[in-house]
Amino acid sequence: MLQVKNITFSYNKTPVLKDISFSVKPGEHLSIIGESGSGKSTLLKVLYGEYDTEKGNIFWKDEEILGPKHNLVIGYDFMKYVAQEFDLMPYISVEENIGKFLSRFYPEEKQKRVAELIEVVELTNVAKTKVKLLSGGQKQRVALARALAKQPEIILLDEPFSHIDNFKKQSLRRSVFKYLKENNIACIVATHDKEDVLGHADKMIVLNNHNIAVNDSPENLYLNPKTPLIASFFGEFNVIQDEIIYAHQLRVVEQSDLKATVKQSYFKGSYYLVEADLEDQTLLLESLKILPLGTSLCLKISK
Ligand code: ADP
Ligand code: MG
Repeated sequence: MLQVKNITFSYNKTPVLKDISFSVKPGEHLSIIGESGSGKSTLLKVLYGEYDTEKGNIFWKDEEILGPKHNLVIGYDFMKYVAQEFDLMPYISVEENIGKFLSRFYPEEKQKRVAELIEVVELTNVAKTKVKLLSGGQKQRVALARALAKQPEIILLDEPFSHIDNFKKQSLRRSVFKYLKENNIACIVATHDKEDVLGHADKMIVLNNHNIAVNDSPENLYLNPKTPLIASFFGEFNVIQDEIIYAHQLRVVEQSDLKATVKQSYFKGSYYLVEADLEDQTLLLESLKILPLGTSLCLKISK
């Protein structure tokens, strides 16, 4: 189990992380979300032992993770980290980059392991290509496979699919997260993409004001977002009489006291996102049909 106890860290004077505590069980999937600059990447680097904390400590099972002051070589065998900027060997192939850390394996075993990982990250067709010829998204996948090569017990991923195009992203995400679960590898994923969280993460931490605003399951946070910051991660929403109402929770009905006028519609594929004026407020709702501008609507909140 990873145990993070009361860690405080600052680059300069003001802390980026203040008194952070949480834990992750073997095989568990934890997401870290928060606005840009909230400290997600910093937190992963601190967990990896790249920086010394001012206060607090970090344990994986019985081993303390120490910063550079107390540990000359950064990193541990049980923990791998894939940074937002990945550093690969450009002049050797995808296969060679992944196999580089498997020197103590027998050649046959090594080949099998490399092939398995290449399949997980869906790079079979470029296995023999030099890394310098790959796109950003392909490189990101090589970095991911390389981190998995030696079967860590826990992996830290910083926006792991951010460089990958939408054509590939969905299936790759399922493949990687499924592989981690099947192999009981704990993961901590910093992300601003709700697709990385919903359907995959067991727990979700929201960083705000240098601290953990909430730590709960994605289901609980989605169904009961306590603040606009949490709701905004999941989708479009309104605040109506101090209550957070997602756009899809506003229904058009025959008759009600909540009357609004259509101001704008955006085609979203399976629905239209509609902006409607209600006295001094603009509401967002979803409609299956296109609603002409100026249409008067009666709305009902249905949670
Ligand atoms: P996130 O990953 O959530 O976008 P970061 O962890 O990268 O956030 O950054 C958190 C804060 O720390 C930001 O204010 C950022 O400017 C600052 N920061 C990040 N890296 C450094 C650094 N190497 N030196 C000084 N400040 C940094
Ligand atoms: Mg970051």
